[in-house]
Amino acid sequence: MFKSTLVIMIDSFRYDYLSEEETPFLLNFSKALRMKPTLGYSSGLHPIIVSGTYPRTNGVWASYYFTTNSPYKWTKAVAPFTYISYRLNRKLYDKVRVAIKRLTKRISGSTHMRPRNIPLWLLGFFNHLKRNAFEANALGNIPTLFDILREYNIQFRYIGYPKEKTDLDVFKKSIASLKKEFLFVYFFQLDSITHKYGVSSPQRKNHTKWLNNAVEKLVKRFIETHDEWNIFILSDHGMCDITGVLSIKKVFCSIDVREFFDYIPFYDSTIARFWFLNKRARLKIESRLNRLQKGRVLYQEELVKYGLNFIKKDYGELIFITNPGILLIPNYYTGFHVDKAMHGYIPEDQTQHGFFLFKNSDSGIEILKDEIKIIDIFPTIIDCFNVDTIKEKVAQFIEGKSILSLNETDF
Ligand SMILES: [Zn+2]
Repeated sequence: MFKSTLVIMIDSFRYDYLSEEETPFLLNFSKALRMKPTLGYSSGLHPIIVSGTYPRTNGVWASYYFTTNSPYKWTKAVAPFTYISYRLNRKLYDKVRVAIKRLTKRISGSTHMRPRNIPLWLLGFFNHLKRNAFEANALGNIPTLFDILREYNIQFRYIGYPKEKTDLDVFKKSIASLKKEFLFVYFFQLDSITHKYGVSSPQRKNHTKWLNNAVEKLVKRFIETHDEWNIFILSDHGMCDITGVLSIKKVFCSIDVREFFDYIPFYDSTIARFWFLNKRARLKIESRLNRLQKGRVLYQEELVKYGLNFIKKDYGELIFITNPGILLIPNYYTGFHVDKAMHGYIPEDQTQHGFFLFKNSDSGIEILKDEIKIIDIFPTIIDCFNVDTIKEKVAQFIEGKSILSLNETDF
């Protein structure tokens, strides 16, 4: 029989935020496990949480990917013009950006891809992921938690971004939805607050305290409402204060390769991805990156470990990652603006770790581990549903493993 389940996910909640002073309820709720993410941002981590598969398998990682079918592909023809406007005058360049957005709507129809701070002459090489992981059929052939609940006619509700605009909205809606058999609550504001103010800021601490209290109320009411229940409280990744920048464009000034003609870069906040139009460009860029102190190129062994060994190279032919605390400047999200804190660093770094709490009405089930990998979250939630047909169904595709004591027998 299906057991009522509450999953509360808090964006960017670092493992070491758990403390008697800031989060007494969370700290004492159950044994706190360290949650180890893989490399990437929410766009790549959330699909892992809701499907138990790595990006290489579910096909979803960075928000922007390389394609020959960009809604902006027509802009390649006017690239010299957009480049000249950039060199001439910032105001003119901004006007060109607005005009390009309008024209693209007319030429390609409406698109979900926002140009952000992507250089206009490179726009035509990229597209943006269509769905977020919480929508129906978000991962195509691979069913998500929500697809499975739908298939088995289990009453559920997802409450969070993008439909809700604040954590308070999420809280209010959740309190009114506690009767559902499955409730997934996603608090997302801690992320933007910490990017803006930093890990040690009063703003970050205040919001953490608020979350502790909101979660306490939700959990207590959920337990009152259901006889048999599972409760998971977890975060998707951690956060690291920014201590320096890497001026990535300057790095290539000293070598004889040209953006657009020889290579196409995409600069996320902490990850630089490259596609090459000739072998010489690859050699030159790779050797230049390998001489940098503030980051390093990722090679096959690590890509396999992080589940990023894609067959198609839409997410990059070469991937470079900055050291924890270093931000790429400019990057295609914030341009030259430097946030106070960032995530998307090497997942082994302690600042990147989230947390995972579990408790249920059946005291026989216990977790014997001190940490959980992001890939194991989905199998663990599924295990708690206590429905054999669902377990059998997901066994065909999942790459992780439940960490419940029930499943400790197979060694
Ligand atoms: Zn973030």
